[in-house]
Amino acid sequence: LSEKTGKTVAEIIKKLLLLGIVATINQELDYDTAALIAGEFGISIEKAVDKDDEELLLNDTEDKEEDLKPRPPVVTIMGHVDHGKTSLLDAVRQTNVIATEAGGITQHIGAYTVNIEGKKIAFLDTPGHEAFTAMRARGAKVTDIAILVVAADDGVMPQTIEAINHAKAANVTIIVAINKIDKPGANPDRVKQELTEHGLLAEDWGGDTICVPVSAKKKIGIENLLEMVLLVAEMQELKANPNRKAKGTVIEAKLDKSRGPIATVLVQNGTLNVGDFFIVGTTYGKVRTMTDDKGKAVKKAGPSTPVEITGLSEVPDAGDIFIIVADEKVARQISDKRKEKYRQEHLQSNQRISLDDLFSQIQAGKVKELNLIVKADVQGSVEALKQSLERLSNDEVKIKAIHGGVGAITETDVMFASASNAIIIGFNVRPQAAAVTLSEKDKVDIRLYRVIYDAIEDIESAMKGMLEPEY
Ligand code: GDP
Repeated sequence: LSEKTGKTVAEIIKKLLLLGIVATINQELDYDTAALIAGEFGISIEKAVDKDDEELLLNDTEDKEEDLKPRPPVVTIMGHVDHGKTSLLDAVRQTNVIATEAGGITQHIGAYTVNIEGKKIAFLDTPGHEAFTAMRARGAKVTDIAILVVAADDGVMPQTIEAINHAKAANVTIIVAINKIDKPGANPDRVKQELTEHGLLAEDWGGDTICVPVSAKKKIGIENLLEMVLLVAEMQELKANPNRKAKGTVIEAKLDKSRGPIATVLVQNGTLNVGDFFIVGTTYGKVRTMTDDKGKAVKKAGPSTPVEITGLSEVPDAGDIFIIVADEKVARQISDKRKEKYRQEHLQSNQRISLDDLFSQIQAGKVKELNLIVKADVQGSVEALKQSLERLSNDEVKIKAIHGGVGAITETDVMFASASNAIIIGFNVRPQAAAVTLSEKDKVDIRLYRVIYDAIEDIESAMKGMLEPEY
């Protein structure tokens, strides 16, 4: 304080004495006392920002408009089981190998890049909305465009609807690939008709959903589909700044016996270099090696590029955010802090919404919308419940049934609820064992009913803070 104020130690100690504080030269003063003493000398002081502050360490500044360059879109393939998601991913990959004559054996690293008309598209290699939603539950937004695969001989099925709802909840543009058009029973118009019932109106029918007929098996329409992806991407004006330190998301991670923890990261902004220090989730490391989706060692990876890296201290989780930091010390510091924070958060009761504390959260102004996922034994009950529950909305809370379906409550339902902070209402259905385990871990509230009226009454009481506690 003496140094900063230019007053001698003796002068400061004297002032302290006058305030009734007996101090020595090496005594620590708290901020308030220091401010008081400085004030006595007519000097105003300001509290320094805590240098440990994670945001400062990450130095994660916004990019200037002029530094932003177009980047390739990142695409996920979703759809009902057996409608051809895996076949389509393979067809896209093969089309590309032939088109670019790049050769080389494609490695499965969790994502791959294709080149079409000199432009790139990154594909996430794990089909299905489960992976997509699991990542979103961790706060990661990776996908720009979702390709919804619908088999032309089968039409819209339960998981098709789930995928539509998941994509919509994440605000991701949907392009429909009407697959298996080579099959005799194929009926693309029926698919389009069914899609309208779920809010997707085909472009050629006056809507804005692009539908592309394809055959993953016979490789028909694949290039057209990719061109449509590029078109949509262009309209989205996707941009990133390649000239900054990288930031991205973990797509896959595992422990390799010989190489240690390895992870595939999708670079979302900046350029990743070998030798960079990073923080990822609660762990950290230094990029030792970097391999692309063709199995080639690379030194750099720009925006929308997936690469497999080694040099991690532990295995991170898919969906963890990956950020480059200045040096190892900073990386370790943030990692320690995050581990501590994580521990604390898991000690405290979770902030997730539940019917029991709905009222107090409404009162605190924390809840304006209550998301519900409704599962029932028959479609009629799903609709009846959705409508009756949504009708309970009032000026303070809007009730939204973000998903409804027939059948047991699954792990995917819980993931969806977790990603959207929703409560699950089950009517005449039970949760699967895995769903129960995950709901306990993620603190997702599942309520089971046998009488529709009881469900309505419970939500109504919860909104008024008059719910009887469950024992
Ligand atoms: P996924 O479960 O959605 O990943 O579906 P798959 O890609 O595993 O495909 C399911 C089945 O449909 C497989 O037997 C495929 O060979 C077949 N299949 C996929 N695409 C087509 C197609 O375009 N035409 C025909 N005839 N069969 C297809």
